[in-house]
Amino acid sequence: MTAPRSISAAPLVEAHGVHKSFGDLHVLKGIDLNVAPGEVVVILGPSGSGKSTFLRCINNLESIDRGAVLVAGEQMGYRVHDGRLIKLSPDAAARQRRNIGMVFQQFNLYPHMTVLQNIIEAPIGIHGVPRAEATAYAHELLRRVGLTQKADAYPRQLSGGQQQRVAIARALAIRPQLMLFDEPTSALDPELVGEVLATMRDLARQGLTMIVVTHEIGFAKEAADRVIFMDGGHIVEQGPPGEILVNPQHPRTQAFLARFI
Ligand code: ADP
Ligand code: MG
Repeated sequence: MTAPRSISAAPLVEAHGVHKSFGDLHVLKGIDLNVAPGEVVVILGPSGSGKSTFLRCINNLESIDRGAVLVAGEQMGYRVHDGRLIKLSPDAAARQRRNIGMVFQQFNLYPHMTVLQNIIEAPIGIHGVPRAEATAYAHELLRRVGLTQKADAYPRQLSGGQQQRVAIARALAIRPQLMLFDEPTSALDPELVGEVLATMRDLARQGLTMIVVTHEIGFAKEAADRVIFMDGGHIVEQGPPGEILVNPQHPRTQAFLARFI
């Protein structure tokens, strides 16, 4: 268990009554969630329960049908003009997304670029950071993810765990206020999972705000401030890991966790 962090009052992420359907399929059925700055939230739940969709709604990769998502006080996909909400253009929406980092199951590094080039691409190309500054920060990030020696390697020369740590460094390179992880270790060979989780635990300790979808119960136990159990498009139960994981109240949470014992 990590030591309790001081968590300030104003939430960094607010989801209010979020609904999302794909055609007739009602995937998110009214999700309410506040995440405080520095908080680490782990989302658990069976396949198909809407976890990935919810993450994608937070950073507006999916539009929502009802409700609202605010990040750092700004409603995702909208701006306020004369007291009215105006839908953002795709470009403006992309700009708004830029302080949110996302790490996926498939790391999707650019195969023709070195590790360093992968990391500095967005800061230089999208954020206009000077090359020297972006490069210095990339080396700092490679140190944080334990890959100082790999700056000039190509993705194919790295193990899956190393590639995923590069993907994490790449997401951090834009200095995001919020990091979203969608099953970051699910595509890895079992022996490579630990190194990625260790990197994520370090980030959690350093006070990064993180929302992590994972089936790694051990990570949830050690790194999460709060665990959320989703099922059927609802948040069924949530609380500190010491409660949810040890003494779940809802039968669906109990049934889900029973699989991991
Ligand atoms: P989880 O991440 O919890 O496994 P998802 O959010 O990926 O669940 O998916 C929830 C449901 O929504 C699933 O039934 C999935 O097939 C469906 N779904 C997800 N994305 C799409 C999409 N782009 N179009 C149609 N259906 C989708
Ligand atoms: Mg998913």
